Amino acid sequence: MRDSFLNATAHELRTPVTSVFGYAQILQRRFERGEFTPERVQKPIRAIVEQAQRLDRLTTMLLDVIRVEHGKLVLERAPFDLRRSIKRVVQELQLLTEQHTIVLNLPESSLTVEGDELRMEQVLYNLVQNAIKYSPMGGTITVTAQHEGQQIAITVTDEGVGIPVDDLPHVFDRFYRATNVPQTTISGLGLGLYLVKEFVEMHGGMVDVQSTVGQGTTFRVTLPQAS
Ligand code: ATP
Ligand code: MG
Repeated sequence: MRDSFLNATAHELRTPVTSVFGYAQILQRRFERGEFTPERVQKPIRAIVEQAQRLDRLTTMLLDVIRVEHGKLVLERAPFDLRRSIKRVVQELQLLTEQHTIVLNLPESSLTVEGDELRMEQVLYNLVQNAIKYSPMGGTITVTAQHEGQQIAITVTDEGVGIPVDDLPHVFDRFYRATNVPQTTISGLGLGLYLVKEFVEMHGGMVDVQSTVGQGTTFRVTLPQAS
């Protein structure tokens, strides 16, 4: 691993740890001084939960990368309806943003795939989270899923910053972040899409991307339908 990646990863991990630690100390101090009123504890508690969630996701991603690299990632396969996973992920992420509207286009009939539901939720989460993160001015995010022959196709489209042509072939690489993203204000490890591709391919599917800088991006995942 190159030093710059290590430094970026250390920074990404340390930020939420520092934050949790700091807010926990504030709570401790307020408790010891008898200042434990609802107004004085609400903000630190909320911040601790948020940052702990972030830390949880980051460590899960890093552990998954290690598992993938060592061929130790095992899928727990069972048939499930992708519509349920999509709805769950979209509901969860919509709660975190008021600037973005997530529009869902799902069919009436089920979209059954044979695979690991939790891993597919991670795939969807990473794609929709990126759509939000890389649309800093807000906008509409459209998630569509439908049958296409023997396949199921899912697209996630945003109206965000887009990806420069030269970066497009690399966005699924481990630790890769595109050159048009201000690294200081929009944080990330560059691992989300690497895992998306690995997980989708482990399910016998494919993922690709189309993008225009300043207009938006569409990620498209295709998966075999359960027989
Ligand atoms: P994390 O590991 O936390 O997900 P990340 O979001 O930087 O960090 P990836 O999800 O792998 O990493 O994405 C890789 C890069 O691809 C991003 O850094 C960004 O430059 C670009 N990218 C991904 N999705 C989008 C999108 N919807 N719009 C514009 N750029 C995107
Ligand atoms: Mg990401």
